[in-house]
Amino acid sequence: MKARHDQHFLINKKAIEKIAGFESVKDRRVLEIGPGEGPLTNALLEKGADVIAVELDSKLVSHLKKRFFSEINDGKLTLIHGDAIQCDIPPFEIVVANLPYSASSKITFRLMDIGFEVAVLMYQKEFAQRMIARPGTTGCGRLSVMVQTYAYVKPMLELSPKSFNPPPEVYSWVLKITPHEPKFQINDRKYYALVVRELFSHRRKTIGKTLKLSKGALGADSVEKMLSTLPETILKARAEALSLEEFAEISNVGSGVQNRLLNSVV
Ligand code: SAH
Repeated sequence: MKARHDQHFLINKKAIEKIAGFESVKDRRVLEIGPGEGPLTNALLEKGADVIAVELDSKLVSHLKKRFFSEINDGKLTLIHGDAIQCDIPPFEIVVANLPYSASSKITFRLMDIGFEVAVLMYQKEFAQRMIARPGTTGCGRLSVMVQTYAYVKPMLELSPKSFNPPPEVYSWVLKITPHEPKFQINDRKYYALVVRELFSHRRKTIGKTLKLSKGALGADSVEKMLSTLPETILKARAEALSLEEFAEISNVGSGVQNRLLNSVV
């Protein structure tokens, strides 16, 4: 049976300490997503963090209020009852979270969009492996490309199902994500994201074929320009064989056309 709200509570005390201690959090604003019953929240508060915890389940929010606000409320914890995929989140610097696995992708994309200094996040092992899959290798996908374009991703810890109650069916990995500026020129970041999404939407087809199918999303003129300008090595390859730089090259050819069209309208 699928657990309600994807709830697997961390019961491995050593792991909790390690996760809370991978980054120095004293007096830093730390976002925690899905605090559950609060083991990680507690460890972060003990280390002196200012914690903003976003929890979806109202029962757990009541539990957390009792646990943390019954004696003293020294302002170090801000508790938000909401959906981390879409609710307002006050400013934060660091993210530390044992994420709900069904929302991993959406939450990761949202966090990357908002921006942060460093994130220590737990994922289902297979999902984490996809995030770190190098571009140009099988297993690399939209998520790997988007995350690695804008961040370093480093595996920190593996946890067996026994570390949780109830135990999930899969192993978990904790990753450290440190954002950086892209290593190459991306002229239009929104268009780049669109190109990466489109190219992985038909991952068995060649880039040339996929581009022809993506005229609606990428713009017919842009696609024509890409097909006539890009080298055969790119057009005949599949998305998983491309390097990050090649995604940027494809995107820059197409976004140049978009911008020219926009300029001529203005
Ligand atoms: N961090 C806790 C609980 C992890 S289980 C621990 O380690 O023990 C995942 C938690 O995320 C649950 O408490 C669940 O209610 C919460 N959750 C699920 N979807 C969420 C969402 N969209 N936004 C915020 N919290 C969510």
